[in-house]
Amino acid sequence: MILEKTSKFLSKVKISGGGRCNVTHDCLDNTALVSNYPRGNKALKQAFARFNVQGTINWFKENNVDLKLEADGRMFPASNSSDTIVDCFLQLAKKLNITIQTNCEVFAIKKTDSLFKIKTSLSEMEADAVFCCIGGHNNLGHYQFLINLGHKIKEPKPSLFTFNLTKHRINKELQGIATKNASVKLHEKKTEVSGPLLITHWGFSGPAVLKLSAFEAEYFFEKNYNCTFSINWAYPLKPAAVEEALFLHQKNNLKALPYTKSQFAMPQRLWEFLCNEVEIINDKPWQEINKKSILKLAELLFNHKFEMQGKTTFKEEFVTCGGLELNEVDFKTMESKLHKNLFFCGEVLDIDGVTGGFNFQNAWTTAWIAANNFTIIKN
Ligand SMILES: Cc1cc2nc3c(=O)[nH]c(=O)nc-3n(C[C@H](O)[C@H](O)[C@H](O)COP(=O)(O)OP(=O)(O)OC[C@H]3O[C@@H](n4cnc5c(N)ncnc54)[C@H](O)[C@@H]3O)c2cc1C
Repeated sequence: MILEKTSKFLSKVKISGGGRCNVTHDCLDNTALVSNYPRGNKALKQAFARFNVQGTINWFKENNVDLKLEADGRMFPASNSSDTIVDCFLQLAKKLNITIQTNCEVFAIKKTDSLFKIKTSLSEMEADAVFCCIGGHNNLGHYQFLINLGHKIKEPKPSLFTFNLTKHRINKELQGIATKNASVKLHEKKTEVSGPLLITHWGFSGPAVLKLSAFEAEYFFEKNYNCTFSINWAYPLKPAAVEEALFLHQKNNLKALPYTKSQFAMPQRLWEFLCNEVEIINDKPWQEINKKSILKLAELLFNHKFEMQGKTTFKEEFVTCGGLELNEVDFKTMESKLHKNLFFCGEVLDIDGVTGGFNFQNAWTTAWIAANNFTIIKN
């Protein structure tokens, strides 16, 4: 029996991936796969040895759902609709005679010698095994019944968010501009993350920003989302290489105007904006631009500093950093080390991944392991 507190079953799957459900990521090497989980990667390595991305692809295929691969590695149902995934689970539940009880919130679970007594918003019931798949939440109250069972919860905090700036010229002038490969750095933490970056009307978004928000979710929380970060627009070049490239470009383009051709594969408007920031304007050719200005441009290109002032929840995917402490779960079975026949799967655990299908992969893997172990107990 499935107890669901809302009126809808699988509502997150339905809205996931912009309504397409990014089921998993084309990453068949488990070592590479775990590097996408800021929290829980060690425990998942063990779990992925039993059920990984290939397991997910096979499982869906066996259940008549073909997945398709996109250029960036994300995998979606071939139908391009999350309804395919929702229907797949609903049909299976029907076939297996599983009752889905909606509008039924679990308030408390008590363990007696051999049974669990479950208090819900509808009634009290008993079960000989419980799978706890309540997802993540930024409010500790969400986990209260697990705390009452003696489990420890690592304080939940948001992960996967975009950065806000206050009234910066870059947002006014360049909103909507994306660059394919920049890096975002937190100097204090010596963390640098690279990837596509999007300038929004409120700050920065895109995979590089979301990835940094995930890997440093706890640091951002401590700083109350106010801290300095910097962007290397010329990534992967290091400072000396940026300077060298600019001087070489000057040497080879003495008569050309600086705006003529954007450098470091960045959008033209971004290049013009950065030149403008260091007062390199388009009325003098490169030969008239002095060394000091070029060094200033190089500094801006590899170390453009910004003040983060708050965050914005990412519209397509947000997850919780924190949750049930992993050392209280046996990852061979997903069973609680405190209570026999109590299992945990998915985001309730202190596991979260970056965007791209990794969070569902955690849910599929941990659920598969728990479900298979449960079968053994029932037999
Ligand atoms: C908008 C959005 C889009 C996303 N898109 C993607 C994506 O495309 N790919 C990806 O990999 N990840 C995505 N994610 C993350 C992914 O959805 C989650 O990591 C995943 O759903 C976690 O699965 P879960 O079963 O652990 O929890 P959930 O999917 O959150 O399910 C938990 C369920 O338990 C119910 N529940 C909670 N407490 C109780 C209670 N006390 N009693 C009864 N029922 C309860 C909830 O109502 C909910 O239905 C997205 C997240 C969001 C918010």
